[in-house]
Amino acid sequence: QAKRLGGDRIEAFRPAFKTHSSGKVELESDLRRAFGRNELSLAYQPIVRLADGQIAGFEALLRWNHVRRGPVSPAEFIPIAESTGLIVQLGQFALDEAARRLADWQKLPGQAKLFVSVNISSRQLIRQDLVNDVRQTLKLYNLAPETVKLELTESLVMDNPERSAKLLVRLKEMGVGLSLDDFGTGYSSLSYLMRFPFDTLKIDQTFLRGEAQPQRPIIVQSIVNMAHELGLAVVAEGVETDADAAKLKLLNCEYAQSYLYAPPLSAEEARRRLQERQVKRAS
Ligand code: C2E
Ligand code: MG
Ligand code: MG
Ligand code: MG
Repeated sequence: QAKRLGGDRIEAFRPAFKTHSSGKVELESDLRRAFGRNELSLAYQPIVRLADGQIAGFEALLRWNHVRRGPVSPAEFIPIAESTGLIVQLGQFALDEAARRLADWQKLPGQAKLFVSVNISSRQLIRQDLVNDVRQTLKLYNLAPETVKLELTESLVMDNPERSAKLLVRLKEMGVGLSLDDFGTGYSSLSYLMRFPFDTLKIDQTFLRGEAQPQRPIIVQSIVNMAHELGLAVVAEGVETDADAAKLKLLNCEYAQSYLYAPPLSAEEARRRLQERQVKRAS
């Protein structure tokens, strides 16, 4: 791919790294070094309570600002981290950093129940130590367990249902929140998944974004109702319009997380919005 900038000047355009055979290997070794170089950080996307429009919590999302290449998308580096095992370190970093920020933010007026939600990938879950890591992190930052939520996808849980179930039960006993992420994109049935101790379901963006097929509202409504009957709270991801948000509110969907409210923010910006008690900035 090349981008023509007029005349005979052609600037090389860097597409996805995976198209370069060497790119992935290079990215892999760079990722190993990224820690020491302070290239990794977390962004925090508000999860908004639909009933009052306030920030109920944040999802912590890993960011990698590569020293030469600039921002690398998680869609690109998370799979590399997973296949190399680096995800374990990355995940520990994310958990610790998110917990540390949360402890600070909860001290703001009216924010004692604020939560943070951290993504967990399969390599982390099958490692025996996750339960201990979580326990120690809660202790270190003196956090109420229910204010820390772990997000897992259905495919992760279905990869190893027996083992996942055991670990999830131990985490549940500790009191942390368990969210089923990207719901509707995997292959498992909701009733099967309910054998796992989830307390929150996140409806995947694909049901709320883009062109509205006529069946979509029916699917969304059914998921929300079924989740509620099973005792789960619901987060709608990627809601694009105020009209859709209003419909979700009428369905008593508890939360929404999307660019409509706020993109992932720096920790400083997240704190500022909590202080102002506003999701969007009054500019
Ligand atoms: P996810 O957990 O489903 O996170 C939600 C993604 O949707 C985020 O992308 C967020 O920026 C994006 N998003 C939120 N609202 C909207 C919207 O209204 N429109 C659109 N188009 N997108 C929206 P992001 O940050 O690029 O993360 C992508 C994925 O990378 C995450 O999906 C998660 O699976 C993975 N990931 C990110 N951080 C971590 C981490 O710390 N650990 C693990 N294991 N995975 C992570
Ligand atoms: Mg997530
Ligand atoms: Mg998601
Ligand atoms: Mg996703």
